[in-house]
Amino acid sequence: MTSKNNCKQDKNLIFIGKKSVRIDRIHINTLGSVMSGFWEEMLLLIKKEIPIQQYDTWISKLEYIEENSKISIVARNRMTLDWVKSRFWTQIQNHAQRFKIQDIVLTIKPAPQKLAIPLSNEITITPNEIRPIQVTRPFLPNPKFNFGNFVQGKSNQLAHATALQVADQPGQQYSPLFIYGGVGLGKSHLCQAIGNHILENNRSSKISYIHAEKYTHDVINAYKTGTFSEFKKNYQQLDLLIIDDIQFLGNKPRTQEEFFYAFNALIEAKKQVIITSDTVPQELKGMENRLISRFDSGLTVLIEPPELEMRVVILINKAKSMGISLPEDVAFIIARQVNSNIRELEGTLNRIKAYSEFNREPITVDTIKIALKDLFAHKLKKTTIPIIQSLVAEYYDIKVSDLCSKNRSQRIVRPRHMAMTLAKELTNLSLPAIGEAFGHRDHTTVLHANQKINSLKITDETIQRDYLSLQMQLSK
Ligand code: ADP
Ligand code: MG
Repeated sequence: MTSKNNCKQDKNLIFIGKKSVRIDRIHINTLGSVMSGFWEEMLLLIKKEIPIQQYDTWISKLEYIEENSKISIVARNRMTLDWVKSRFWTQIQNHAQRFKIQDIVLTIKPAPQKLAIPLSNEITITPNEIRPIQVTRPFLPNPKFNFGNFVQGKSNQLAHATALQVADQPGQQYSPLFIYGGVGLGKSHLCQAIGNHILENNRSSKISYIHAEKYTHDVINAYKTGTFSEFKKNYQQLDLLIIDDIQFLGNKPRTQEEFFYAFNALIEAKKQVIITSDTVPQELKGMENRLISRFDSGLTVLIEPPELEMRVVILINKAKSMGISLPEDVAFIIARQVNSNIRELEGTLNRIKAYSEFNREPITVDTIKIALKDLFAHKLKKTTIPIIQSLVAEYYDIKVSDLCSKNRSQRIVRPRHMAMTLAKELTNLSLPAIGEAFGHRDHTTVLHANQKINSLKITDETIQRDYLSLQMQLSK
């Protein structure tokens, strides 16, 4: 804390551990440790300036190399390089100048020649051994899930962009692609869209889309029926393996081992692997470390809950595909109420369709209020922190994750205070519980936020308006 403050006051001071070093008095070239101290300090600064998810995805994994007084910041792949270059590089250079560092370049890591853990002889494949096999129907991705009907918004922008790139150049840059996020947010849809796109481009591509539970079942079955070597070969000769909901392999060491071999064989052969999960690799329960580190070796992207506009577009599109005429104002009201995930949006649409067909009534604001009476009543009585967070994030055009992050820029702090205040006033939760829900903060932070907003409400018209508008929306 002190070091950061001081750093702001004296731009020539950098900190290594608790010690400060004035960099204009030392010859940078000879002081490797000071330089890496520079990078640590740089990371701290950037972390404070950008959303935490962006930091985790793009910045935290950059490597620092110093050679012959030249500093290289190394990105793991082309996409990271491009992204960092276009979004953050000026920022990084500006900070570097403050540290009196001129010679700093952004480069890309050369592609690895071999995996760290070699494959055992047992499963190494030589071209002669590869027998073409027919990948049977159940393994193909469902054609219903494609890019054409995948709506993109802020919450899935990065995942969508990456998916498109992988679909165009499978196995080239981001293998494995690891997509994670909560239920019903489009992970299965997106990974199958990639598979379908690849298949469209090349009908002879060998593709397997499989749910992790089915994979486990198949491993056991292969054992039982003595068809194990066939099973292995089937996987190792694929061009694309999509394994959905990898968390289901948790605590299944034998299946994990089998998957480890298949995975390595494909990556080594520069084939594409796509994995989806409900959490980041590091938090997968009961998963071997060697798998976790493999999962994180390509590109890991998050899908977040959809923002309001996106929910409206999804509803309207889905309604169209179901042959329902859904007016925009009605879609808007539904999207406001159903804000957790897309699967729930679809369920709600089905209910409305059933109601309107049964009663032979058109879908209007009035009819949906009747059709969804229980849902609306339930939702309105029970304002929850996720509802507040998602509404506040939408209102201020930031992400829910920003509200829980350590980001202290004013753009984020004010909405965070606002959301905490609303949570205190509109839910029955205790202060510690609220603090916990906002990125494990202390209850005093919630109190402070509350006091701050309440006093600003008196002096600042904008805050007063924001507060009333949000409160009204939550109490409607
Ligand atoms: P997950 O695998 O993350 O649990 P799914 O991919 O099964 O979620 O998505 C749930 C439903 O929502 C599916 O019917 C899917 O087509 C739909 N869906 C999800 N995301 C989108 C999106 N961005 N655009 C259109 N439909 C979507
Ligand atoms: Mg899924």
